[in-house]
Amino acid sequence: MADTRTIVVLIDMDGTLFDFDIKILEAVQRYDSSVNKDNMWTKINENPELKKIKNQTEFANGFFYTLPLIPGAKEAINRMIERGWKVYICSSPSVTSDDCHSSKNRIMKDIFGEELARRLILTKDKTMVRGDVLIDDRSKITGQYEPIWGHICFKNGYERTEETNAVDVLKGWSDDFIGKIEKIVHPNDHNYQE
Ligand SMILES: [Mg+2]
Repeated sequence: MADTRTIVVLIDMDGTLFDFDIKILEAVQRYDSSVNKDNMWTKINENPELKKIKNQTEFANGFFYTLPLIPGAKEAINRMIERGWKVYICSSPSVTSDDCHSSKNRIMKDIFGEELARRLILTKDKTMVRGDVLIDDRSKITGQYEPIWGHICFKNGYERTEETNAVDVLKGWSDDFIGKIEKIVHPNDHNYQE
């Protein structure tokens, strides 16, 4: 018999819904024009001056409210909701930034509306959160518990050196996110309906 329970999808914010890296890239490029999408995190990690610029940018008031949407992110969330799936936004807040929490609340409300903003979960440890799938650009997600969700690693086009141990990989929001989520939730059913 088909499993008809509601699918719960957790979606990360920075690097998955919103383009965090572009703002960091723009800031460090002003100091070093050789920095690009493919080498930015290696260069930032190797150069204390670039790291300082990255931190100053990220921790400036209002930073998280200025991030542009990643193409297709809004449409993707709408498609999930249309399918009757429960979408929650699951983000790790920066405590060094004085207004990270409020900026994240504000941008969710302004871009996605109050209903989704109410589903914003801010936590350092995403393994504490329940759900079927977590879509997140981090390569590896660990914490207090063995996660009950399947991790889909979101590739956003910026350098990531760490190998991922995710169940699947999503190459942007134009990739088949519906099929990949269905495959995790219903691994034995191969007749997915778009
Ligand atoms: Mg992220």
